[in-house]
Amino acid sequence: MNNIFLDARTIRDIDKVVDRVHLELGYKDGAIDLRDVREALRLDLKYYRLDDPGLLDEVVHKLTVGAKQVIARPGLLVEAVRTFNLSALFLPDRKRIFVDQSVPELKKRWYETHEIAHSLIPWHADYTLGDNRSTLSQGCHERIEAEANYGGGRLLFPNEAFTHCRLSGPMSVGRVREIAKHFGNTITSTLWRCVEQSDELMFAAIGEHPRRPRDGKPVVEYFIRSKTFETQFPGVTDMDVWNWMSGYCVGKTTGPLGTTEIPVQDRNGQSHIFLIESFGNGYNALTMARWLRKAPAIVSVGGLTAPLLIAPLAGQ
Ligand SMILES: [Zn+2]
Repeated sequence: MNNIFLDARTIRDIDKVVDRVHLELGYKDGAIDLRDVREALRLDLKYYRLDDPGLLDEVVHKLTVGAKQVIARPGLLVEAVRTFNLSALFLPDRKRIFVDQSVPELKKRWYETHEIAHSLIPWHADYTLGDNRSTLSQGCHERIEAEANYGGGRLLFPNEAFTHCRLSGPMSVGRVREIAKHFGNTITSTLWRCVEQSDELMFAAIGEHPRRPRDGKPVVEYFIRSKTFETQFPGVTDMDVWNWMSGYCVGKTTGPLGTTEIPVQDRNGQSHIFLIESFGNGYNALTMARWLRKAPAIVSVGGLTAPLLIAPLAGQ
């Protein structure tokens, strides 16, 4: 799936509530401590495990206190959690966030922040039910999810500090990893935010390793473009990225997978050279590309090497 760009008004409204949190925390730089955020917002966090019926029952018990629907049918939540493989959910009336305990630590951080964003965005109170692990930002709640992802990104990558980091040198996968460390976030979420918020011609992809796709099929889970790239290169698809990756990525699953220069056509047919590089985190291949230069125009005249001379006919 492709990243969704929110309209300016929505961005302004979300920025406002997130900025208020940073102000309340007295944020200066570095990683956001989610315990402070929860305290400031008076939010409660609970972990549950799908394979531990006791814990799940506890979650259901807590839910019955506040959620009318669940009081009527306590099985509803268990059903929902199991059916949709929920990895996180937020209960507005209890101000409580639930996160699946089996999710890796840094991912928990992202899921929790995503739910915090739901809690911060005033118009989300009516929509939030839970988040499906595989569709955390897609499906029928695509827009709501995009807003929560944007708000979560803004919360974990505070605008001023993050912009300063992003603009302090040319972007590369190496810098994305440094920035991830600085803000204590996953490389995946950092790559996403670095590209989406860039004013440069950039794109990124997160998905299967091109030489080791798990189901044998090409899968680019997320194709992220900067706004300027989306406008000037609307024809580029996630499968183009997959094909480029297949050409230069080596077989290993962790560390640098390869880098090369690729020609990419803009909306007017002009060719541009991008520097593309991939990195394996052991699970996914992460790819980033940025504009280098315009490619020189090549004039092909059907195998003829001599220039064609088109002379006006005599007398005309
Ligand atoms: Zn959500």
